[in-house]
Amino acid sequence: MAGMWHCQVVTSASTAGAVRQGSLRELNLAVVLGRIAAADRPPSRAGLAAGTGLTRATVSAVVDDLIAGRLVAEAEPAPRTGAGRPARGLVLAADGPAGLGLEVNVDYLAACVVDLSGTVRHHLVRRADLRPVSPADALARLAALAVEARAAAVRDGLTLAGATLAVPGLVGDGGLVRLAPNLGWRDVDVPALLAGRPLVEPVDGVPPLVVENEANLAALGELYAGPAGPRSFLHITGEIGIGAGIVLDGALYRGARGWSGEIGHFPVQPQGRPCRCGGRGCLERYAGQEAILAAAGLPGAELPADTAATRLADLAGAGDRATLAALADAGVALGVAVAGVVNLLDLDTVVLGGGYAPLAPWLCPPVVAEISQRVLTAAWSPVTVRPAALGAQSAAVGGATSVVRRIVDRPVGWLTRGVTG
Ligand SMILES: [Zn+2]
Repeated sequence: MAGMWHCQVVTSASTAGAVRQGSLRELNLAVVLGRIAAADRPPSRAGLAAGTGLTRATVSAVVDDLIAGRLVAEAEPAPRTGAGRPARGLVLAADGPAGLGLEVNVDYLAACVVDLSGTVRHHLVRRADLRPVSPADALARLAALAVEARAAAVRDGLTLAGATLAVPGLVGDGGLVRLAPNLGWRDVDVPALLAGRPLVEPVDGVPPLVVENEANLAALGELYAGPAGPRSFLHITGEIGIGAGIVLDGALYRGARGWSGEIGHFPVQPQGRPCRCGGRGCLERYAGQEAILAAAGLPGAELPADTAATRLADLAGAGDRATLAALADAGVALGVAVAGVVNLLDLDTVVLGGGYAPLAPWLCPPVVAEISQRVLTAAWSPVTVRPAALGAQSAAVGGATSVVRRIVDRPVGWLTRGVTG
């Protein structure tokens, strides 16, 4: 909290000592919890001391605090391998803080609960065409779903510590949705519309509600689901609109104003079909869900994204020629756009997410072919194109996980919640 740091301008030696001690404890809590979170196998107290360079007494005191605060639990005892009492490993608690991930999209609402270990504990989805619905009504329905998710979390002994809302649009400062073209939203003050509906317990350092672009959150979900360490990739969410999340060196690249990743409006045919954005020949008009369905001769433009993708995948798997041709053309358009991004950013991995994930068997080959042809370095630095690890509604999962990641990074905010002064 800002007040704590103001204390660094101190007038007495005793206050300075208290601040140093507080900061050291805060650091030790974060170091030990981070080690437990990143470990492949539950570490023991002795193992943590060896790995961190902290004394065993310090590690024990820190671990006791983390256990008392429901951030860490002792794993089941390991089988006895020799003399003496087997050391009990430490794991992230399954009944402590949790993140709430919310999503409002063109054809569904979602609410999911992710615990500290990153496990999805609940995932509620309500199908609805939200295009004719006002933003206030859509958010009221979402809030009702969030209340259901919270009740499920509470039944599990979890405490919601923060919420992240994914929207398919451009999000400005303070959670103001500047534009969500496929929802028909413009300048929607989401936090104001959700005000008066407290969903989470206040935790210092964890915003109660973050509003973020869905493609960015889906990319974060993919980042969290993979191995630890710096990774760079492009994650593309293919729905009615197409969005991308850019991860560079293990961190989301949001752009100067937070609006990076609008790959759906990358021109693949400069004089091509008119687009909702006012431009022509945008990728969305060739590789978006509606474009693929129309090219395949399917009248299902109103289908939910994952239903449409499943239907396309079923038809392609059965060898339907129109569907195969539609997917091949979409893959070429997608590959043209992706090759441009790879040339610019030197990424070694492209992940196809959202509605693209089940279509990856048919989209990957043309995308790879375009990359091979268009990316200068492709001959000696191949680019991997693969489906996303997370399934549908991965943005909600990424959003919920981003909440618990904040707690792992700075556990003192959770441990001191409700403490005044
Ligand atoms: Zn466009």
